[in-house]
Formats: sequence, C-alpha cells, structure tokens
Amino acid sequence: MSYQSNFDNFNEWITGLFPDQKEYLQATRELARDVIDIFNAHEPYKKNDVLRRLSMPERIIHFSVPWLNDQGNVEINQGWRIQHNGMIGPYKGGLRFHPTVNESILKFLAFEQCFKNALTGLPIGGAKGGADFNPKGRSDQEIMRFCQAFMTELQRHIGPYTDVPAGDINVGSREIGYLYGQYRRINNRFGGAITGKDISFGGSHVRTEATGFGLIYMLQAVLKEHHENIADMRIGISGAGNVALHAALKAIEHGACVISLSNSRGCLIVDKGLTTADINWAIDNKAHKDNILTALAERVQGQWHDGKTPWQEKMDIALPCATQNELDGEAAKTLLQNKVKYVLEGANMPCTDKARQEFDRSEIPFVPGKASNAGGVAISGLEMSQNASFRRGSYTSIDETLEDIMHNIHQQCVDEGRENNRINYARGANIAGFRRLADAMVLQGI
Ligand code: GLU
Repeated sequence: MSYQSNFDNFNEWITGLFPDQKEYLQATRELARDVIDIFNAHEPYKKNDVLRRLSMPERIIHFSVPWLNDQGNVEINQGWRIQHNGMIGPYKGGLRFHPTVNESILKFLAFEQCFKNALTGLPIGGAKGGADFNPKGRSDQEIMRFCQAFMTELQRHIGPYTDVPAGDINVGSREIGYLYGQYRRINNRFGGAITGKDISFGGSHVRTEATGFGLIYMLQAVLKEHHENIADMRIGISGAGNVALHAALKAIEHGACVISLSNSRGCLIVDKGLTTADINWAIDNKAHKDNILTALAERVQGQWHDGKTPWQEKMDIALPCATQNELDGEAAKTLLQNKVKYVLEGANMPCTDKARQEFDRSEIPFVPGKASNAGGVAISGLEMSQNASFRRGSYTSIDETLEDIMHNIHQQCVDEGRENNRINYARGANIAGFRRLADAMVLQGI
C-alpha cells in the first residue's frame, strides 16, 4: 500500500512540504482531487506511489544571471529551470521573464505543463523556466545581453534530447532569437534545443499562431459537442499577447463577435466587435506602442476602461488569455449572472479556485488551460521533429495537424470526463493526462 490513499492525506503531505507556494499547492490539489479515485483503483499506481512522485519536480535549477545594463552597471536577476517530469519525452516548456516570477509560479507552470504535454499525445515531458527580470523599458541591447547571460548558464542543462525550452510571457521571437544564438555559439550545434525559433533558422510554420488558433479549434469542438456554432457568438477575450490576439483572429475568421481585449492597465470593449484588420494592426504595431490597446481604442472608437477586466460584460463565451488567477470568484459570478455559456482557458490557470468552483456548480462547460491551450506546445513538438529530421512541414499540413491534436484532446476530455448529463472537461483532462504519465512511470520502474 502506498502512503496516501485519500485527498486529505495528500493535501497534508504537499502542504507540509511547500507551505508558502500557493500557486503550486493550488495546481497540485486541483489535480489530486480529480485523480485520487483512479489512483486508488489501480494497484500499480499505488505500489509505485505515482501521485506523490508526479507532485515533486525531478530537478530544480536555480541560478544567478549577472548582466551589464546600458550604463555599464551590473544587474543581477534570478533564473530558474524546473525540470518537472521527463517520463514521456525530453523536458519541454516555456521561459517566462516577469518581475513576479518566483519558484512557486514556475513550479505550478511546470506541473501543469506535464499534463498538458501528455494530452497532446506527443513524446514531450514537462518543464518551465524563466527569470524575475522585467523587460519593460529595457533597450534592445539590454534584452540581448540579458538573454545571453541567462543562456550562458541554462545551456549546460538543455539539449534536443534533454530539455527544450520555448517562449512564454515576455519571451517572444526576439528573445528566442537571442537565446538560441547564444546556445548555438557556445555549443557549436544547430538543432532543436529551443522551439519557437524564427522560420529562417529552424522554426515551424504556425508556431506563433498555434496557442490562439488551437484554443479556437478546441472551442469549435466543444460547441459541436453541444450542438452549437461559433458564428455570431459574443466572445470576451482577456490579454493582448500572442495567445489573445491569435485567438481573436481565428474566432473572427469563423464569424464570432470578439468584444474585448485587455492588459494589466485595463480593458478595451468594442461592442460591435473587432475586425480582422483591427487585430492585424495590433499584431503589427504592438512592439512600437506603449499601450497598444488604448491606441486600438482610438482607432476603432471602442471604450477603454482603466483598471478593469472584461468580465463585467455580457458574453456567451469567456476566453481568459492573460495570466494565472486573473479571473476570480466574483468575476465568475458576474459572468454567470450575465449568462455566459462556455469558459475556455487560453492562459495557464487564469481562473482562481473560487472561480472554478462557481463554473463547476453552474455546470457550464469549462475547459482548463492544460487542454485548451495545448496548441502552442503541440506545434513546438512538431518543430522538434522537423529539426531532428531536417525537414519542414507546410503551413497547411501543420495547421491541420494542430486541429487534429486539439480535437483529439477534446475527445480525451469527453471520454474521461463524462458525468450523468454533462462533460466535466477539467476532470477529464486531469484523468487523461494523469493516466498517460502514471502508466509510463509504472512501466519504467522506480
Ligand atoms: N509556454 C507555452 C505553454 O505554456 C509553450 C511551451 C512550449 O512551446 O514549449 O504551453
């Protein structure tokens, strides 16, 4: 028999280990609650203690990143790479540069990444990394020097068969270029040690669009399952980064009315809906504007609400695409009062525990990030295989594969999450991901 056989034991154990890591506790508890019965029903899972093993990162690398700013002064940041679980493939997951980054946040992201990556069906393990570096207001030269200093340390821990980082918040194509350049310089090796690369040096078609497009492919599968269609649905999106903008683009292409975008300073509401041209303009200009959304508000004569989120608006579908815990219990209640019908997470864990409880109680379809935002890492997986074989797939074939992968994830959630008269997508995703990892663990022994 194993140590823990009910949720309370598990909770006591994990809370005792990491009492101050609230995001990590939130993510691990949420998974354990859903899989504990499956765990108890399988003797090999218990014998191999898979749940506790899956809740401990295999390795945490914590390092200092000293670099020179434009004034010639030394600045020091903290860098991390959490190699959470490598049972089903090389560690894989993004890098986040943000002043709020800490070990708890990166651990929760690495933990979620393992289950997300398992759901894609590809051979990729789970990891996350980043630094408490704030890129806002930094010159291009400073960004380059920071990326180089970060990679000077990280490079010894990664490689195409070991650990393959990619982008995340504030790590986009520019940063990936600088990071990869430094990796290649030191290792004298061209290859798939990083994904999200530019198309000119081994990147994959559709990688930039993949998370946002994948979210809409998942939404279409959910709507089909519920005999509805995306056309004319009012969709509220938060965020204004890669995920939010590409989700908006794909949703508009399919006839939806996208009424919002947001950032840490407030939200833009456009009641008549944004157009493809508006979103493309934002994508093309966001690097040169201090606040792309206030600029867009002027352009489209939308309303800018300082310090607000989009969740007070009336909408059929909510797609939180900004960051963790951005949609709380109160926002969930307002959305439900306004008759929201579907919630799909575009970011990683953007709904708080309370918000999820509200959605769960109301029984509306709620799809967690580990299922609905898996499109980005899925195309990263395809980038790895293209790099390994020195080939490149066409835009169309990769886009079709992305759609297939998202529909397959949807099906796994349906198969594992079917309850009396509804589909519990969150539970389905947790169980399907857990089974794949747990089975690999059992087969590979202690
Ligand atoms: N950061 C993305 C995620 O949260 C992508 C990771 C990757 O491509 O490795 O899934």
